[in-house]
Amino acid sequence: MNFSLRNRIAFFYLITTAVLVGLLFALIFSVVHNTVYNHLDGDLDAEASEVFKSIVVLNDSFIFANPFEWGEKEHNQVEVNPTFVQVVSKDGKIIKKSGNLFVHKLEFNPNVKTKKYFDTNLLGSPTRQLQMPILNPNGNVLGYLIIAIPLEESALVLADLRNVLIISFPIVLLILFFTTRYIAGKSISPIKKVISVTEKITRENLNERIELPVHKDEIYNLASKINDLLNRLEDAVIREKQFTSDASHQLRTPLTVLKGTLGVLIRKPREIPYYEEKIKESIKEVDRISHLVDQLLLLARHESGKIEPVISRFNLREKVLSNIERLFEQMKNKNIGFDISEKNIYVSADSELTDIILENILSNSIKYSHQDCKININLVETNGTVDCIIQDNGIGMTDEQVEKIFDRFYRTDESREAQIEGSGLGLAIVKKLSEIQQIKINIESKKDSGTSFHLIFNS
Ligand code: ADP
Repeated sequence: MNFSLRNRIAFFYLITTAVLVGLLFALIFSVVHNTVYNHLDGDLDAEASEVFKSIVVLNDSFIFANPFEWGEKEHNQVEVNPTFVQVVSKDGKIIKKSGNLFVHKLEFNPNVKTKKYFDTNLLGSPTRQLQMPILNPNGNVLGYLIIAIPLEESALVLADLRNVLIISFPIVLLILFFTTRYIAGKSISPIKKVISVTEKITRENLNERIELPVHKDEIYNLASKINDLLNRLEDAVIREKQFTSDASHQLRTPLTVLKGTLGVLIRKPREIPYYEEKIKESIKEVDRISHLVDQLLLLARHESGKIEPVISRFNLREKVLSNIERLFEQMKNKNIGFDISEKNIYVSADSELTDIILENILSNSIKYSHQDCKININLVETNGTVDCIIQDNGIGMTDEQVEKIFDRFYRTDESREAQIEGSGLGLAIVKKLSEIQQIKINIESKKDSGTSFHLIFNS
């Protein structure tokens, strides 16, 4: 069944209340029923003890000592509150009966030997009757006293009560069902608001937010959690847009240079050395584009979760040295030397990804160092970790700049102004590749003094 939430709540509530109200009504009816019957039986008892006062029990028989009792009003009248009394012998023969019975007699049940109350009929009307034995001092039955009072009024009251309860049962349930449905509907209406706002939100209007309800309840929580989610989505979309525009911008610069150079070359015939020079410049631009595309592809692979680290144990010192070798040309150009600790130290990490990380950090240390400087590489092993410290004495950074260097395309103003080549993607890649193989990065940097990168590996 495809019930709405409010109908479902109302329906379950209805079932529970039906059971409870049913039980309550049954209880009310049985309490009233018992009270009425206890009352009637009490009347019968009182009457019986009155009658017994006029009976004198002897050893084998009994006699009526007070004949006036039998002439009492209620024993003669039939219309209002009559009481019918009859005394029968052991075998059921009528010995005495009240005047209001005329020719009629009260029903005698020979099988009932002890005191017993039961419902019966007298002249077509419901009657409550008591039958009890008249015993001699030895406990032998000498006869029976039978007393009856009309049940009609009590039966009417009980029947009325039963009818009222039966009729009011569905009415109460219907009222409860619609009230619950209304209340449930009212409590769910803020959810409808949430749904209608979220339905309208698309990529284009991600800045819209759900209005928070006044009461800080579950719906408030739901709405604020959806708003948080929208904040994160909006951030991600903004970052993605920014990334695309930055990436196109970065690619456009070398492409424009390339196009300009080639345009100059075909405008008119030139000397061979001129061609050689321009072609070299073009190759440099193509290299830049290719490097940038490699970096973008690496980030995209990381973003789509396609980079699976393969952890192995390798000699970190050798790895640092092989990366320095690859960057030797750059170091030579700036006359930069290096120092590395002597001891071979082993770490557990992904060998290829570590190459990319080391190459980026070492190449930064060279790029952002001054001419004729030295880069110090220290490998320190402590309690299951290895701290690889790459320290330069270059341009350094302020704390605010350090906070941003892992953002994609971020470059400090100093590095832009100094026209040091770069895209601002290297450290973003370093951060992601370190994260997936649990390498921690710490940075200490001081403006105009130098920078230390700590790569903390598991040994
Ligand atoms: P880039 O290609 O610009 O070097 P990175 O992501 O590798 O991009 O670095 C981001 C920025 O961080 C650099 O542009 C530079 O401003 C700053 N930076 C990185 N390493 C150093 C360093 N060793 N010394 C000073 N600044 C650095």
